[in-house]
Amino acid sequence: MAEIVLEGVTKAFGDGTVAVRDASFTIHDGELFILVGPSGCGKSTLLNMIVGLEAMSGGDLRLDGRSLRGVDPKDRDMAMVFQSYAIYPHMSVRENIAFPLKLAKLPSAEAEARVREVADLLGLSALLDRKPETLSGGQRQRVAMGRAMVRRPKVFLLDEPLSNLDAQFRGQMRAELARLQRRLGTTTVYVTHDQTEAMTLGDRVAILRGGEVQQVGTPRALYAQPANLFVAGFIGTPPMNLLPGVIDDDRLRLPTAEVSLSAEERAAIQVPNGPLAVGIRPESLVPTGVAESGATLNGRVDLVEWLGSDLYVHLDLGDVGTELPPALQKVGAKGEGVRIIARLEPSEPVREAQSLRFALELPGLHLFHPETGLNLR
Ligand code: ATP
Repeated sequence: MAEIVLEGVTKAFGDGTVAVRDASFTIHDGELFILVGPSGCGKSTLLNMIVGLEAMSGGDLRLDGRSLRGVDPKDRDMAMVFQSYAIYPHMSVRENIAFPLKLAKLPSAEAEARVREVADLLGLSALLDRKPETLSGGQRQRVAMGRAMVRRPKVFLLDEPLSNLDAQFRGQMRAELARLQRRLGTTTVYVTHDQTEAMTLGDRVAILRGGEVQQVGTPRALYAQPANLFVAGFIGTPPMNLLPGVIDDDRLRLPTAEVSLSAEERAAIQVPNGPLAVGIRPESLVPTGVAESGATLNGRVDLVEWLGSDLYVHLDLGDVGTELPPALQKVGAKGEGVRIIARLEPSEPVREAQSLRFALELPGLHLFHPETGLNLR
């Protein structure tokens, strides 16, 4: 059993930098929990507070109900695996894995049995007498994992463990890590800046920005119901298209398009008439014929990317003509030459410079507050 509860966890450094502000969430027993966000958002600082390498400036952290305030890292029953695997080059694989047990003065017969068990689980049994320099990056990664696992900690903490690997291998190791974590069932907190890694690996994910938790949820919930514009733009490949909209009683105007709203639909959107921000996932853009009725978004194809399994079609909608809502400016949207990306079937016969129309329906649109950027639904 290992449940971690964060309550208002805050870290201010001596120079006034607030690296983490008021983080409150629960990491459930046995789950693979991801901390994700752009560089400098505070994810490593948060992980370091959980393991005890950084002291909290405010709030509380509890492991199975017991406060970790003032508890020494070695007494927290947690094991950390760092980005640079930090295995000892002069020791064999066996000695590296056994090292924490030696420090704990475990009898050598028991230590050897544990090392064998871990090596077996990680597919390292045949490599136990090798030195790290003769191993591949992935094998070294597994040795580092083995050294963390051999102590049988309550919690694993991993800080960007795959970032030193090339893209193809990273995908492979990601799957291996996921399988291993499921088999062990040990509560694991995993830091990454890579949203794909977060979405594919995580049972649940916390998204951070500027030291603040933006949203905590399952990958599916984050994708379907992003809490705000930042999360909307951060999760998903290609990212959600973000457009300026104007709501005016029974209609929602977008660049090149107008969607009509029933009285009920209008009432459910809780902003006064005026600007708002609108998000459309690339896969929600479905090409439609000229003859069909209803609202359509119209653009000119300016780039086609064929990926084998998908077709990413970049379109230019022209200039917006109105000023962008502040929340959209904050996430980097531009008013001139608004571009969107549609994700289509790879067999779709699309050429550069042609015009395309997409059917627009209210359920496929995400609506955000023009100033706060909060999701309106
Ligand atoms: P990255 O992905 O780049 O590693 P991160 O999300 O892990 O970033 P942190 O390393 O937690 O971010 O840093 C969060 C913020 O705190 C940053 O603005 C960083 O500059 C600042 N920071 C980190 N350590 C210290 C320190 N010892 N003193 C002052 N500021 C610090």
